[in-house]
Amino acid sequence: MDQEKLAFINPATGNQFGEVAMSTPEEVKQAVDDMRGSFPAWSGKSVRERARILKRFQKLLIEHRDEISTVVSQGTGKNRQDSLIELFISVDMLAQNRANAAKWLKRRRVFSGLYFTKKSYVEHRPYGAAAIISPWNYPLLISLTPMFAALLAGNTVVLKTSEITPAVGVLIEKLFNSLPELAPFVRVVHGDGRVGAALINSKPDYIFMTGSTVTGKRIMQAAAENLTPITLELGSKDAAIVLEDADIDSAARWIAWGAHFNSGQSCVAVERVYVVESRYDEFVRAAVKYSEKISSGFTLETDSPYFMGPITDPRQIQIIEDHVKEAVEKGARILCGGKEQGPFYKPMVMVDVNHSMKLMREETFGPVLPIMKVRDEEEAIRLANDSSFGLFASIYTKDHARAKRVADRINASSIIFNDSLAQFAIPTLPFGGVKDSGIGTSHGREGLLQFTRPHSYAVGGSPPAWDIATVMRELGNYKLGVAIMGVVYGTTLKQKWETFAQLFQKERKTALPEIKPEPTTTK
Ligand code: NAD
Repeated sequence: MDQEKLAFINPATGNQFGEVAMSTPEEVKQAVDDMRGSFPAWSGKSVRERARILKRFQKLLIEHRDEISTVVSQGTGKNRQDSLIELFISVDMLAQNRANAAKWLKRRRVFSGLYFTKKSYVEHRPYGAAAIISPWNYPLLISLTPMFAALLAGNTVVLKTSEITPAVGVLIEKLFNSLPELAPFVRVVHGDGRVGAALINSKPDYIFMTGSTVTGKRIMQAAAENLTPITLELGSKDAAIVLEDADIDSAARWIAWGAHFNSGQSCVAVERVYVVESRYDEFVRAAVKYSEKISSGFTLETDSPYFMGPITDPRQIQIIEDHVKEAVEKGARILCGGKEQGPFYKPMVMVDVNHSMKLMREETFGPVLPIMKVRDEEEAIRLANDSSFGLFASIYTKDHARAKRVADRINASSIIFNDSLAQFAIPTLPFGGVKDSGIGTSHGREGLLQFTRPHSYAVGGSPPAWDIATVMRELGNYKLGVAIMGVVYGTTLKQKWETFAQLFQKERKTALPEIKPEPTTTK
């Protein structure tokens, strides 16, 4: 029987520009086995050597920039500059991780406490063959970023990209295969959720998945079968808060950008805005002004006049339409934008929204900006936290101390002041969700260490007679144990003295209730 094929479809034009055979479960299992087999060779290299090899990959990415941005644009429908942004951030992630990996992964000497004759160390050991499963919205960036961290940490990688953007998976495979020093340590498998499930069932040593909350939970259940450690970077419903002392024009400009960039198909997109009532009208006017300036369409020219491309996954259009329709039925108004021909939208701004609407509670993942009027900062915080998600948020105010106070009360793991989205692109800042937005971390030191487990060891010769490890192993040293514990950890001078002094007393007087001694065992 012929192997099932995945067509490369440009969502903007509907044109097919290639295809790839779906990986069979046997091929997926073989990929994991191969990567487990090549793991000792890769993890056996020093961090610096791995970083040196990945530097060649960095060079390759820059050399192939035009081919890469073309394939990403064809696969997603986004403009070439936005595809270049994916590549740009990927390269930055790699460069910063390479520069810091040796420092972040360095073995640490830790205090040995009373066991001072030993030297104690913690190392960060890679897991083995890591499975990375990625989504379609940033198919290059969100595949490469965890791959770089996994590889630098010493893991080998099996990647599965989204079935919606299979051309990008093939591109990544081609790029890795073109470097003989790196090719043996990376495999790419192609296919839909069934191939993803086969990957999880093939018992990789670590799973890093980015995608929807529904799929994330399903994968976590499957991972539990083998107790495979897992990171999940999932969906969200990110809030923006605009306070009365904000620069309203700038806030509206960057919130509109944050809501509509990549046609709203970003996990960190602004999906709901809370504006204090004294600045509400002004903000709404400015948000409409900036949203109406945004054009949508598709071209492969590098100087595209189109800010927004199409909705990449046709299934997502149903969700956007459903959220908008339900909100309108419940009283919301559309101030601008809406669905156009095919998979295109004009950026939408909606008002008179509330938390009974899916538009304010579920991930819309489209170019829709719902704005809600709030009494004050307090109400804005309450509503921002009234969500099952917690990935990202933004706060607009000129007072940074106030922004920090508000940020401290928002239950999301990343927050940016007076800007949207950009924090995702700061490679040294850890990124990850709380609540239904996921578990675990990517990016930065924490993201790199995520691909390692701590391995500890204590170095020393045979314990000398006076070593605590020897003393407490010898019977008859109860009183000495008490004295050492009391002198070292006693919380008052009196307690320290008493515990020491009991070494020389016959019997200790105790104020604790008497405990009946158990019957003595006799042989
Ligand atoms: P999705 O959950 O449909 O698919 C994600 C990946 O999981 C795909 O590769 C898919 O084939 C695979 N998959 C599906 N079923 C599987 C299974 N049973 N076992 C293993 N793998 C399986 O998500 P999507 O529609 O591709 O991506 C959009 C979602 O991703 C949005 O919710 C968005 O918020 C989220 N996202 C999150 C982040 C983040 O960093 N938190 C970043 C980007 C996207």
